[in-house]
Amino acid sequence: MTTIQPARASEFTVHDPGSGDLVGQYPVHTAAQVRDAVERARVAGAWWAGLSYQARGQRLDRFRGVLARRAAQLAGVIHDETGKPHSDAMLEIALTLDHLAWAAKNAPKVLGPRRARTGLMMANHVATVGYKPYGVVGVIGPWNYPVFTPLGSIAYALAAGNAVVFKPSELTPGTGAWLVEAFGQVVPEHPVLQLVTGDGSTGAALCGAGVDKIAFTGSTATAKKVMAACAPTLTPLVAECGGKDAVLVDADADLDAAADAAAWAGMANAGQSCIGAERVYVHERVYESFLGKLVTIAGKARAGSDPGAQLGPITLDRQVEIIRRHIDTAVAAGGRVVLGGSDTISGNVVQPTILVDVPEDAPAVTEETFGPTLTVTAVRDMDEAVELANATGYGLGATVFSRRGRQLAGLLRCGMVALDSVFSYPRIPSLPFGGCGDSGFGRIHGPDGLREFAYAQSVARQRFTAPLALTTFARTPKTDALVAKVMTLLHGRH
Ligand code: NDP
Repeated sequence: MTTIQPARASEFTVHDPGSGDLVGQYPVHTAAQVRDAVERARVAGAWWAGLSYQARGQRLDRFRGVLARRAAQLAGVIHDETGKPHSDAMLEIALTLDHLAWAAKNAPKVLGPRRARTGLMMANHVATVGYKPYGVVGVIGPWNYPVFTPLGSIAYALAAGNAVVFKPSELTPGTGAWLVEAFGQVVPEHPVLQLVTGDGSTGAALCGAGVDKIAFTGSTATAKKVMAACAPTLTPLVAECGGKDAVLVDADADLDAAADAAAWAGMANAGQSCIGAERVYVHERVYESFLGKLVTIAGKARAGSDPGAQLGPITLDRQVEIIRRHIDTAVAAGGRVVLGGSDTISGNVVQPTILVDVPEDAPAVTEETFGPTLTVTAVRDMDEAVELANATGYGLGATVFSRRGRQLAGLLRCGMVALDSVFSYPRIPSLPFGGCGDSGFGRIHGPDGLREFAYAQSVARQRFTAPLALTTFARTPKTDALVAKVMTLLHGRH
């Protein structure tokens, strides 16, 4: 079981969640040390921002090369710290490389200066908009995808010309240290990407250390604290938080594909995915057939800490009790276990669990479980499925199997939808990633993800003096009359 104990007052240890072995010891950086890192980052950021997009892109490409060549080593660190299977860690790295490539290549196109239309009244001007880096971005990351998730912010922030101070989860500091060390190899001149380690207090210190923006990924509860910590300095924030995603299965769906996708969405990474599905709403006409297929597929996925297991252990010890509570309260409220269940929990290993007949107000349906569990519920039609899927404060992602998929996607209140596939949108670097409501705000990935780490600067240059001088105290009544006329001509007919 994972145990985080202070080795000395100023240090903490990390243990492999599978074996319990000690895998690292890291400093708890103090607020003063975090401030120092941000000051160093400011100097480094000025240098980094002074490079061209192409020069930064070349460094990011070389960083990508290091990650690709040493992926097996990095996957080993991820496995040791999170317990996830080595092959899943490799997959996580592979997906990250695509984002690094995209951000490096597209930053000049998305953020470089472009012309804007001026309109008739300002036809004597040339208008341009460009994007400037904020300066120093503080990135606070979770442990569940300790490479893919923080690099979803870091890669885009760096490509936009910012320096980054990265605070990984206290469960995965070794993965963070590996990334920062690898980046330092390709950018040795200045500490453009730095690491600070510690617990939540180090993250809180980063929010108040003079950074120009915070990119937070983690739980909704912590996001609220981060937002409060950012408020006094009006530090902007992008918040990627939890979810309670649903899978919708229509009567006309390919049930084999839908069951396979639902099993993956619910169980992959032992259910510890922000976009993991926790609820499935199935058209009543195909409910039994779908459920049978889902149970068969999910029943073949075994959780454990041995190399043959497809699901690793639950990384965060205390999450096991939340998962157990959600299963037990669902059963107490009339739900039935058709696969797994709390009896199959052993230590921090939770077997895939499928629950049916669970009331919609049970915690298994309303709260983020973050374990390999799914509730499966029959619905009259897809209207009811949409209504139930939307009946949550979260709004991260959804998965839909239906011929009306595009239409249903439009009715879902969430930031991302996978149609006839699973976990597809985060694998497309040009698509923005993020949610609404309790799932947070702002976007990483894609053009929006680049713009998240830059502010727009508008420039309007006068090419010649306008015949109508409007912004002068020498304006005449004749000009005012003409403005009134033009105004009516341009807008009065609407
Ligand atoms: P937490 O909210 O517990 O922690 C997230 C990060 O915030 C960690 O680095 C943590 O440090 C840090 N932190 C804790 N307290 C504070 C504080 N007061 N001020 C600043 N930082 C603080 O989330 P988890 O790490 O447990 O991650 C799981 C959650 O992340 C789930 O809810 C999941 O859905 C969500 N998530 C969302 C994603 C998305 O893109 N929408 C992607 C991945 C996960 P420490 O760990 O050291 O306490």
